[in-house]
Amino acid sequence: MKVGIIKGNGIGPEIVQATQLVLEATSLQFEWIPIPIADEGLKQYGHPLPSEAVNLLKEIKLAIKAPLIVNKLQGRLACRQPDGSEIVYPSLNNAIRRELKLFVNPRPIRGISGLSEPHHNLDTIIMREITEDVYIGWEHRIGDHAAQAIKLTTREAATRLARYAFEYAKSNQRSKVTCIHKANVLNYTDGLFLECCRSVASKYPEIEFDDLMIDAACFHIVKQPELFDVVAAPNQYGDIFSDLCAGLAGSLGLAPGANIGDDTAVFEASHGAAPDIAGKGIANPIALILSGALLLRYAGYAREAGLIESATYSVLEKGELLTPDLGGTAGTMEVASAIAHAVREPVIA
Ligand code: ATP
Repeated sequence: MKVGIIKGNGIGPEIVQATQLVLEATSLQFEWIPIPIADEGLKQYGHPLPSEAVNLLKEIKLAIKAPLIVNKLQGRLACRQPDGSEIVYPSLNNAIRRELKLFVNPRPIRGISGLSEPHHNLDTIIMREITEDVYIGWEHRIGDHAAQAIKLTTREAATRLARYAFEYAKSNQRSKVTCIHKANVLNYTDGLFLECCRSVASKYPEIEFDDLMIDAACFHIVKQPELFDVVAAPNQYGDIFSDLCAGLAGSLGLAPGANIGDDTAVFEASHGAAPDIAGKGIANPIALILSGALLLRYAGYAREAGLIESATYSVLEKGELLTPDLGGTAGTMEVASAIAHAVREPVIA
């Protein structure tokens, strides 16, 4: 299987190495193809997201991406289009998603017995819309003392996201979809998002549907995590809500994710490059390892994906080898080796 590798910055290279070790323990054959993005893109092509990298990703269709930081960009990034025009994106991550036409960022988060107390029964998957909302980057200063941003919601993107959430629920034995929004204040934008979710929900009578204001959702997930199953979220609320869920589970290092489009998918941890712990060999690799499992399931290797997930949860539940973010003293590769070992020699219950 050909898989693109975006090594990233900060803890990126360490957690990529750990993830490759675990994926290879499944005995599937991988051809890892380095993708020149960020520093490597600048070095080879003079651009952090060269069209060569975008085309390579479109050709391979599958990639593992570590977190990225490109300080010099200060966020914004201009990408030339085939017709000669230019699109300015608010960040490199945003540019990758939109250049590849990836539209949903599923972020599953599970509590772990003994580690995530009192949130061990958290088991949710946030379906975050990733093409619009305030992250389209249409913002500007108005003189020295004001600034303005535009929040975009379209029926097409909201309906596509809602359909994805319901289809996922249907094919993964999930019983409920909750839409999070702030439609009482943002009547038009979040109002349209909610309207689209309701309209799609009416076509899936077997799946329960409800909606919550984002502030109420934050309160309820802390108090009663079991109320949440699949969550359909606009871009910004999904981004923030998933970090809250990772915190309840115990660490940002436990939250995997994917960016899915019609025929290309990029798998990445929900967390950032964690520059404060980079190069120390103590980063938690689990979010990217579980993202690797999502990649295998997406590519049709459900058995191998299940092996990685069971191995990861068994190492976590044992609690003997944990990285410092989870209260332990183990290193990144120690945890990865223990998971790889458990993949090769699964304990049959
Ligand atoms: P971004 O804006 O790119 O999401 P950020 O600055 O919000 O990044 P992170 O880079 O995710 O945040 O880091 C937030 C905190 O969580 C840091 O203290 C970091 O060390 C910690 N952290 C993030 N990921 C991990 C990980 N995999 N293992 C251990 N600690 C982590």
